[in-house]
Amino acid sequence: MEDQEKIIQIAGSITVDELAKELGLSVTSLIGELFKEGIVATINQRLDFDTASLIIEELGISNVRLEKKNTATQTSEARRELSDHAVERPPVVAVMGHVDHGKTTLLDTLLNKKTVEAEAGGITQHISAYQLEHEGRKITFLDTPGHEAFAAIRQHGAMLTDIVVIVVAADDGVKPQTVEAIKFAQGANAKIIVAINKIDREGADIPRTMADLSQHGLQPEEWGGDITMVPISAKRGDNLDKLLDMILLTADLEELKADVDIPAEGLVIESHMEVGKGSVVNLLVTGGELKTGEFIVAGSAYAKVRTMVDFKGRPKGKATPSTPVTITGFKELPNFGDRFVECPDEKSARKQALLNAQGNSDALASSNVTSTDLLRMMNVADNSKTFNVIVKGDVLGSVTSVVDSLKMIDTHGEVTLNIVSTGVGDITENDIYMAAGDNTVIYGFNVSVPTNIAKMAARDGVSVRNYRVIYELLDDAKSSMEDLLDAEVVEEEIGEMKIKGVFRTERTSIIAGGEVLTGKVSAKVNGANGEVPVLGRVYRNKELIGEVQVDSVQKEKMAVDELVAGETGGIAFKLEKRITIELDDRVKFFTRELKKKRL
Ligand code: GDP
Repeated sequence: MEDQEKIIQIAGSITVDELAKELGLSVTSLIGELFKEGIVATINQRLDFDTASLIIEELGISNVRLEKKNTATQTSEARRELSDHAVERPPVVAVMGHVDHGKTTLLDTLLNKKTVEAEAGGITQHISAYQLEHEGRKITFLDTPGHEAFAAIRQHGAMLTDIVVIVVAADDGVKPQTVEAIKFAQGANAKIIVAINKIDREGADIPRTMADLSQHGLQPEEWGGDITMVPISAKRGDNLDKLLDMILLTADLEELKADVDIPAEGLVIESHMEVGKGSVVNLLVTGGELKTGEFIVAGSAYAKVRTMVDFKGRPKGKATPSTPVTITGFKELPNFGDRFVECPDEKSARKQALLNAQGNSDALASSNVTSTDLLRMMNVADNSKTFNVIVKGDVLGSVTSVVDSLKMIDTHGEVTLNIVSTGVGDITENDIYMAAGDNTVIYGFNVSVPTNIAKMAARDGVSVRNYRVIYELLDDAKSSMEDLLDAEVVEEEIGEMKIKGVFRTERTSIIAGGEVLTGKVSAKVNGANGEVPVLGRVYRNKELIGEVQVDSVQKEKMAVDELVAGETGGIAFKLEKRITIELDDRVKFFTRELKKKRL
């Protein structure tokens, strides 16, 4: 008997609770199952489409299929409501597809001149977005070397891609990453245009590629479907104008607009540190106009926009919607994929950053933050240390759960967790590059570290820590965060002595005798970090005279290890500063140690 297939429609995400209900499982058993997959989840946790699908797959539930709710309304939800005087903006286009199908070649050919110029200038930095002009109109291209970028951006719930150009090699057809790209585009509610590439190749078979694509839900317009497919040769440049025409046409149908008279906002699409410049951050403006000198906040980081340049490195005083820019001025690196917003002044930017640093905007939204709270937060944040991490996982679900679990480590506000970037897949050169010089730890979960990458990490002093068990990873993170805490000075009382005679007083030493009233006295004791010297405070009628150190202990003229309560003996004291000890003085013995704080 075959079970009937059940289709669960989800919009952006689904809570663990809802999913359990849909699957007919109890919440606890679903959480248990998730746990087995290395995902630590709570009942109200939201799982995105991919994570939920993956879980269903990994649970071996074959009669349930997830489907994206068709979400015309969702797009406007994810994007800001527009006013009626919103203006047209350039489309934001991502080029995706299977490896070697020609994404880089396509971008290079399109941006030919620009790329050459950049290289001639010796600029090797990774530029994450470009703008080019076609028919007098601008098109913004996102350079997406890996799908990690999108995973991260999607995790932050932002839908910034209007159009996804899926590159499929006509001699190779639909491959796993092609399917991923299709899924991504659908998930992001982006319009799809297919570029059937390498048509100059002998084995190129356009109709077969189209049939292949139809099998995956993309019906070509030529066959009565709704997907524009443009046969191109990225290498020779064939039909690229047609592709750009189609991008603009699609943009026109979408009526892409943005408000410009609102505070600037957008997304962080890349961030790294550069010698001499500090933080260098690529932003994509999605609304308003960003100008130099303005204040912006992104997550827990804020900036006064010090310099702003376009993708060619030319200074720009003002950036309008859909414009990618590179700015300096962030005090700390914002997270990739974070939304940024303009603030009226430094004070409010700082405040907002602190509020964001508290992590949980939901909690903040539902609780009123008083000025006292704010002050407290500011004080805490001022003394706080930052633990920078990059998280790589085998699948999106594991990345999400590692990140969420890391965020749940309670640091009592003393350590700020800064997730520099996250991604699916093995540790890469780029991860090392991002982590280098910045005290950033790379956590891998169920991924591998290729030998050359491990070597590179060792060379650059980057710590790569790979785990297969989430709790081990979390323990490591916790103790690393504890390592960041300043050690505390801890004093421990040992005993007290009453002086009964002083035998010799010199500049740096005193020999005196007395009776141990409480505890004991010795020259050294075992402390938390090994042997520590015993110190003493000398009191005369309750007045503190000074501090001494116990050099040696004697009983009946014989050196002994210690004197205990009730015993009388002699002590040689070492002095840091010249003081006197007199008859009837009391010496309180203690140890002083630096102890690591624990979370
Ligand atoms: P990516 O991994 O998708 O970025 O692919 P690349 O752009 O690196 O291209 C992979 C290989 O295919 C390179 O050797 C390119 O020169 C080649 N290639 C890309 N586009 C074309 C094309 O239109 N025609 C031919 N013949 N080769 C191409």
